[in-house]
Parts: sequence; C-alpha cells; structure tokens
Amino acid sequence: MTSPSGSTDISLRPIDPTRRAVSPDAGLSPRATRVTPVDVGVFGGSGLYELFDDVEHVEVATPYGPPSAPIAVSEIPSDGGAIRVAFLPRHGRRHHLPPHLINYRANVWALHHLGARRILSPCASGSLQPDIHPGDLLVCDQLVDRTSGRPSTFFDGPTVNHVSFGDPYCPHLRSTVAARAVAAGATVHSTGTVVVIDGPRFSTRAESAWYRAQGWQVINMTQAPEAALCRELGICHSALAVVTDYDAGVDRPGTAPVTQDEVYAAFAAMMPQIRGIIVGVLASLDRERACDCDAATNGLTPDPPHDLVGPG
Ligand SMILES: [Zn+2]
Repeated sequence: MTSPSGSTDISLRPIDPTRRAVSPDAGLSPRATRVTPVDVGVFGGSGLYELFDDVEHVEVATPYGPPSAPIAVSEIPSDGGAIRVAFLPRHGRRHHLPPHLINYRANVWALHHLGARRILSPCASGSLQPDIHPGDLLVCDQLVDRTSGRPSTFFDGPTVNHVSFGDPYCPHLRSTVAARAVAAGATVHSTGTVVVIDGPRFSTRAESAWYRAQGWQVINMTQAPEAALCRELGICHSALAVVTDYDAGVDRPGTAPVTQDEVYAAFAAMMPQIRGIIVGVLASLDRERACDCDAATNGLTPDPPHDLVGPG
C-alpha cells in the first residue's frame, strides 16, 4: 500500500473538500475508496502545530481510538519528485493533550496507515549536561524509557513479537536530519541519549542529577513509547531534540529550575529554524529507504484489538 506514486485502498468518508475521514476499522478491513498515500510523517511537538499552509485535513479513526488531531496532508517538491507529507501535532492543535495522555498508538498507527514509512519527530527537551545549551539541537541515537503505565506496544497477543530496539532510531534518517540541521546553521549534537519521563511535572534536582550522572544528554516526555511503536511497524524514526532549557540538576551556578512558560517560549522561538530543517530533510529524502528498519518487524503485523474483531 505504499507505492509513492500509487494509491492505497482505505475507506474514506468525505466531510468536505479539505477534510476527510478514515473509518474506525482503518487498516483492518480495506475498502475500495482510493487515496494517494503519503511518504513521510511528522509529529509536531510543543509549539509546532502546523507545518504547511496548503493542506488537506484527514480524520483517521484507528483501532486504538482517535489520534491527537486531524492529520494535515500536503505535497512538497523534493530531489526525487513530489513527496507527500502527513503532519500530526502530538499534543493536539490546541495543546490540550499532556504527554502522559497522548494516544501514541493511535498517532503512530494513523500515520502508518496513511502510508508513512519514515517519521520525523522534533521534541522539546531539557539539557542534562552543562555543555549542551538551550538553542542547541541534538539528534538522538539512544533512549532510556523511564515512563510507566503507557500503552507501549501494538503486540498485545495472540501474536507475540519482540522487536530489536538496541538502536532505536533509523541511522539513515538520523544522518539526514543532522546534516540539514548543520546546514541550517544550528549548533548540532549528532548523537545523544534522551531519557523519557512521564511528566507532566518536571524533574526534581535529585532526579535530574541522577540522569546527568548516568551520562545521558537530554530529557523529554514523549519519545517513549513513540519510538518503540514506530519500530514495531517497521517505520524509520528520527528524534530531533530541541533543547529549550537546562534541567533542574544541571550543575550551572545560578540556574533555576525550568518553568513551563520558559520551555514553550524557547521552543516557539526556535520554530522557524526547526520548520526549515524539517522541510530541508523532506526535500532531500530518497524515495526508497536504504536501511533495515522494516526488517525489525520480524515479518509480523499486530493483531486487531479484540473489540474490533468480528464474530467468529
Ligand atoms: Zn530506517
């Protein structure tokens, strides 16, 4: 269903010319209405609620419930021809979803169902190290999941699938993102570990100092389970940590614990640059993937949730 220039069979219920809906069994019982699939997905973080002006909004109902918002589909020119992009603000368009209540499974499923096999994931992050400064960008290559209680897998049985997650992010997509960030003039850390906490509160000084002592670089509230869910569906995923602040335990004299307003303001100030980097990445992607991310699925696909399985 992912031919870049072809179409895919998914069921659609048109609402108006710029707003369409995909039925609740999307991805489970394909029907005849045809829609051109997208190539790449983008999750918008805090402060990034729109990517392009000329979009078609598609409402996707997934087996896991609704995603955070209607998905904005657009098409931009690229080195390999036009590329179709699906943008989804993970906190909702009004930032009404805190990180622990985001329906990550619905979000990832929706973009995958629309055809996305690569997902860019900018995310606001705090620095855990004194040499990583607000305004810097970090392309994550490792992740430590400190969240709990979030639905974190598509494989709830009967099919069991233990996907490889030693390297949680796509190496090719990471290098492309890093190159475009450097080209944009940003201060870029091309590797680093993101520790993911539930939030929504920020860390205590002791928690933050412990994370720093482990040698981890940045802290965030949304990369888990997002990255793992992408891996389970064979999606290339790359997280661009947008450093908005020093976390509470960073040993810098006079550094006060971060506030919500400071994070939002810092992220918003960096948005023009982040948007430019994302557009640059999209425009430079090859049509075909040159990585092994798809093989991580072990050739298995998730079972439909039980409440959507038909009789018999
Ligand atoms: Zn990949």
